Amino acid sequence: MRTVTILGATGSVGGSTLDLVEREPERFQIEALTANSDVDGLAAIARRTRAKIAVIGDASRYQALKDALAGSGVEAAAGPEAIIDAARRGADWTMASIVGLAGLEPTMAALSCGKSVALANKEALVSAGSIMIRAAESAGARLLPVDSEHNAVFQCYEPEPGRVSRIILTASGGPFRTWTREQMRTVTPAQAVKHPNWSMGAKISIDSATLMNKGLELIEAHHLFPIGADKLDAIIHPQSVIHSMVEYIDGSVLAQLGAPDMRVPIAHALAWPERMATPCARLNLATVGKLEFETPDEERFPALALAKAALAAGGARPAILNAANEAAVAAFLGGAIGFLDIASAVAEVLAQYEPPAPTTLAEVVAIDAEARQKAAGVMRRMAA
Ligand code: NAD
Ligand code: MG
Repeated sequence: MRTVTILGATGSVGGSTLDLVEREPERFQIEALTANSDVDGLAAIARRTRAKIAVIGDASRYQALKDALAGSGVEAAAGPEAIIDAARRGADWTMASIVGLAGLEPTMAALSCGKSVALANKEALVSAGSIMIRAAESAGARLLPVDSEHNAVFQCYEPEPGRVSRIILTASGGPFRTWTREQMRTVTPAQAVKHPNWSMGAKISIDSATLMNKGLELIEAHHLFPIGADKLDAIIHPQSVIHSMVEYIDGSVLAQLGAPDMRVPIAHALAWPERMATPCARLNLATVGKLEFETPDEERFPALALAKAALAAGGARPAILNAANEAAVAAFLGGAIGFLDIASAVAEVLAQYEPPAPTTLAEVVAIDAEARQKAAGVMRRMAA
């Protein structure tokens, strides 16, 4: 029996994780579940799974959560600190699936327990990569990649030094893969969240539409796999059947394939180093028929170029990139700026300042806050 904590249990990845965990109640026991503000959703899954504790991030919803859990035997807690405490309970396996930098401290708390942490929350790794990897190593924690591309690489990667010559992440290209900049100018949030192959939360869906997601994933790969930034590539593959590839020095290329369902990589991380059965659709290549590939167009999708530059420069650049992007995506979803303004706002913030590389968590948080403030200023001017 393994204990499982899900940080971000009401989200898309959280829901897929619960789907798998609940299929094998004799194998997994829920320790803690957390969410940001959806009290009813959180209480329902906590009751159903008999979690030990449920934590809501919005402290003002504490009484509502307590009421919703009355008589269930599930403990209630609220506030960002309570989420960190829940992560620190040290479940055997923790899913880090909070979206955005809000997931950084809870993920770090889970890592400090020295157990297995399945990582979906790419923004935390992008902003605090080397700090996070060092923390995992010193605590003896195992970071298991859940992002489908990184899970694919993880499955194909031979860790012996000097063997791997290249990592190639695949990208669907998003809903605007064939659109001109002119067509993208008037895109609405509803159009941009409609991903052709994957069903995901709003923020990552927008990132997929701008290709910022692939840029964040290149930075993520750089931290998860010990290989130079110059050996990381992205390729557009609209069918999302090949989830990524590892090229070896002898010319062999290993790929992981499967139907586009996040439960496949989550199941891999959940059962690792074993395997578990899933109800996911089986891949039928005859039905798929054709696998296509193209080079990403960084002129139409400048967010990818910005992320690559941040990866190459290192230091504080990835944290600034991520913070400005989170702010810009939220503004786009709120109707305050246009679709093309997202990458423009990120570029402007990156051009504005050059703080030294962060060496502590507090420094990452400070850089993130400053970048968000600058992004707000940039976007106020854009909207005016
Ligand atoms: P989502 O929006 O569906 O869910 C986010 C979860 O985080 C929710 O449970 C929400 O309550 C919680 N949350 C949000 N803000 C919070 C805050 N300030 N404090 C505490 N909790 C907060 O997002 P998602 O699509 O499930 O994505 C989660 C993470 O996984 C993201 O980092 C995303 O990039 C990554 N990811 C998602 C997918 C996917 O298929 N959805 C694939 C790969 C990677
Ligand atoms: Mg991905």
